[in-house]
Amino acid sequence: MDGPKVPPAPASPLEQYLQRLYDKFARLEDGQVATYIPELGRARASWFGIAIATVDGRVYDVGNSQVPFTIQSISKPLVYGLALESCGVKGVLKKVGVEPSGEAFNSISLDPHTGRPLNPMINAGAIATTSLVPGTDPGSRWTQLLDTFSAFAGRSLGMDESVYISERDTGHRNRAIAHLLRNFGILEANPEEPLDLYFRQCSVSVTCRDLAVMAACLANGGVNPVTGRRVLEPRNTGRVLSVMTSCGMYDYSGEWIYSVGLPAKSGVAGGILAVLPGQFGIGVFSPPLDERGNSVRGVQVCEAISREL
Ligand code: GLN
Repeated sequence: MDGPKVPPAPASPLEQYLQRLYDKFARLEDGQVATYIPELGRARASWFGIAIATVDGRVYDVGNSQVPFTIQSISKPLVYGLALESCGVKGVLKKVGVEPSGEAFNSISLDPHTGRPLNPMINAGAIATTSLVPGTDPGSRWTQLLDTFSAFAGRSLGMDESVYISERDTGHRNRAIAHLLRNFGILEANPEEPLDLYFRQCSVSVTCRDLAVMAACLANGGVNPVTGRRVLEPRNTGRVLSVMTSCGMYDYSGEWIYSVGLPAKSGVAGGILAVLPGQFGIGVFSPPLDERGNSVRGVQVCEAISREL
């Protein structure tokens, strides 16, 4: 026999707010799902999720917040943090700068004399950063990277094998960039190794709820507010937030600081991670992208949150 029905708990003001954002921007149908990595073309344009994780460890979400997608370029700030922790700021700056490029994510923005990529948020800089992940062999470096991402998310993450294969087999431009970095001595050994790790890191499967918790770690000085575990030293957390602020949205970065002002990072699978330091982390997922490779609905949601909260 059924007991008396318990009415659902009334939604909190923050949940109601997220629902209003969802309803408003779900109607927006601009943008194109990325297809240059063939496997990404399978995503549905209608998928849309928003999550917020506060620095006191509460997580709120609406929409398709549990649909998995690949983290793509949102991996770049996390790996940058890992490189800073293992090589120190001087060691990292030798290999990659902190200057906004104002160019597309796949641009070949290298210093003409040293070959040093301008910043760690474009692919060239990210591949250089990935070569600094500590470990004795490719397997241990991958384990270290995945463990770090999992600590940020507060749960054990895995890789989307088919996106990885798709990207590995079609990523000729990234392969060219890696070999160019080897030519300049920015990569010091076989360039195929960090390149493979880069393809793997981009293929880690997350939800927008995970992105919100990862962002909340950055909002919370490097401590995961859900698990209580430190994932990044405070000074490196500040450095990661700085490069996200100046370079996180590629050639949209200048306008982004002006109109949104939050440190953020986008990925071509449709994710955006944004941080309101000291307050909360935001994760948005919606696959259709604008011409700069940023999620159309994701950008709108972040603009609205920055304006309204
Ligand atoms: N894996 C993608 C690439 O290297 C990441 C790009 C992105 O998310 N902007 O092309």
